Order: sequence, then C-alpha cells, then structure tokens
Amino acid sequence: TQSTRPQRLLHAVQKNATRGDPRSVVKAIDNFCRQKEWAMNVGDEKGCILDSVVSEVNPVTVLELGTYCGYSTVRIASLLPPHAKLITLEFNPDYAKIARQVIAWAGLEDKIQLVEGPSGEWIPKMKEQFGVKTFDLVFLDHWKDRYLPDTKLLEDCGLLRKGSILLADNVICPGTPDYLEYVRNSPRYKSQYFKSHLEYTKVEDGLEKSVFLG
Ligand code: SAM
Ligand code: MG
Repeated sequence: TQSTRPQRLLHAVQKNATRGDPRSVVKAIDNFCRQKEWAMNVGDEKGCILDSVVSEVNPVTVLELGTYCGYSTVRIASLLPPHAKLITLEFNPDYAKIARQVIAWAGLEDKIQLVEGPSGEWIPKMKEQFGVKTFDLVFLDHWKDRYLPDTKLLEDCGLLRKGSILLADNVICPGTPDYLEYVRNSPRYKSQYFKSHLEYTKVEDGLEKSVFLG
C-alpha cells in the first residue's frame, strides 16, 4: 500500500527516536530528511536560530502558524518553561494527525495545543476559545501569502503587545516579499534578518525577527 511522506517521517521517528526525548525526535526527523526525503520542516540549521530566539524570549504564550509534522512544534515546546503553552495551527487534517503522534512521541502533549483549521478563521477566536491575552512569540511558517494578512489580523485582534516577537521562516525562499516590506518599513516594528539556508539545502533562506513596538 502507498504511504505518504509524513507517514514515512513518523515511522522514522518511531523507529529511531526515544519516547519522551524531544531532541531525539528532532534528530530522527533531520536524519530522515537529509538521508531519505526532503520535507518542509524549518530544519536543523534554521532550527538553531529558532532555538536561540525561543530561549532569549523565554515566552509563556506562543503561537505557531503551520504545524506540518510537528518538527518545529517539538523544537519550540521542548525549550519552554513549565507553565508555558504553545498553540499550533494546521489546516491539513492528514498532517495534523501525524503531528499529534510526533508530539506524543516527544512527550510534549501537555505543553502543546494543536488546533485544526485555517489561521484566518482561528486567529479572531483565540481570545474567547483559548483565553489568550497576547502572544509573547509568534512563529510564522504557513503558506507564504498568509504572513502579511495574518499579522494584520493578529494586530487587529489585539493579540500582540508591546515587545511581542514575530519570527518568520522562509522570508527569502520561497520568499514573503509583501510581509518583509511591511515589517521592515512599518514604524510599529523593529526588524532583523538572520541569514541561513533553506532546510536541508545550500540555497539561501533566512528568518526575520520582528519586535512589535505597539
Ligand atoms: N513549521 C513546520 C516545521 O518547521 O516543522 C513546517 C510548516 S509547513 C512549511 C506549512 C504548513 O502550514 C503546512 O502543513 C500547511 O498545511 C499549513 N498551512 C498553510 N496555510 C495555512 C493556514 N492558513 N492555516 C493553517 N495551516 C496552514
Ligand atoms: Mg518553513
């Protein structure tokens, strides 16, 4: 029978990673993607930048846009303090199903709320549905044409506070020109580029870290 790439990725995790050990889950996925099949995880190289931003911000409330198989979800959640919570949004039910199993294998279910559906519909419901006031950190890694409208939605819904951090992946490859133009030129943000490479390749890509100034 045919299997999908996310199913094969999950299988690699269950075969090679230790239950309850998030770092071994991350490592098993990176090995699978470098040796077997490329997949759209933030990856090991940009993942180190992601880790350092998460550690520096030390957030209590985190929103991730785009879960896929839960690779970055596990990376982020494993660095959060005990009382912190990560909400991650995924609109593809097949990916969400895999991500739940990857998260469970890492032993991080208690820190992570995986919400299924489109970001444009969930963002306006965040306050009432999840009791969130504002997000300390938002990781943007869903479809690239949604970065800008969802950022404006987060602003309009009052989900950003002075000092909230937006971290956006793939700002060069595939690229998010309208979003970059916005965060780099808006007086409401202070923005900085972290040069790196597209996951599991030598192609230039990077992360954009933007502080919301209020
Ligand atoms: N952050 C993941 C990681 O690094 O491991 C990779 C995420 S992948 C690049 C993008 C994901 O976003 C896909 O799984 C896609 O189905 C999902 N997605 C795209 N647009 C979305 C939207 N508007 N709402 C919810 N999920 C979305
Ligand atoms: Mg990405």
